[in-house]
Amino acid sequence: MRRAIFPGSFDPITLGHVDIINRALPLFDEIIIAIGVNSDKKYMFSLEERIQFIKENYKGEPKIKVETYTGLTTEYCEKVNANFILRGLRNPADFEFEKAIAQTNRKLSGIETIFLLTSANTAFISSSIVRDVHRHGGDISGFVPESVTKK
Ligand code: ADP
Repeated sequence: MRRAIFPGSFDPITLGHVDIINRALPLFDEIIIAIGVNSDKKYMFSLEERIQFIKENYKGEPKIKVETYTGLTTEYCEKVNANFILRGLRNPADFEFEKAIAQTNRKLSGIETIFLLTSANTAFISSSIVRDVHRHGGDISGFVPESVTKK
């Protein structure tokens, strides 16, 4: 089985994430959307909310699972028997950052990271800007799936 994990904070899931996940679906038998839990990090949305946003968006899609993990991403991959890590790339800054992580992960475990380039219409979207807009009372409906807007 060709299983990938898509790790991230998803605080909250955006249309940029949805674009990457939807385009990766034909490439894998199963994609685990893996929410990394870091006790030092402050989140805007609770873990339960973040899980719910993703689950609701993908209800009826049997190839998508939503899970949480702590610790090393490569150890989590081994635990769930995933051979690939999926990541999205928006710009050169993403590339530089992701390159070092992917090379480290491959050295640690042999696991390959598969990158998909963002679509042009979602390239500018980031969870941190969405949080900023939301914090100041702006309308985030153009940047996130309906499961988030509803909340
Ligand atoms: P992290 O906390 O690891 O940065 P995120 O939830 O912000 O987690 O992002 C998870 C993954 O989604 C990363 O690979 C990131 O590059 C990708 N991503 C985020 N926004 C977009 C977007 N607009 N287009 C493509 N990929 C994106």
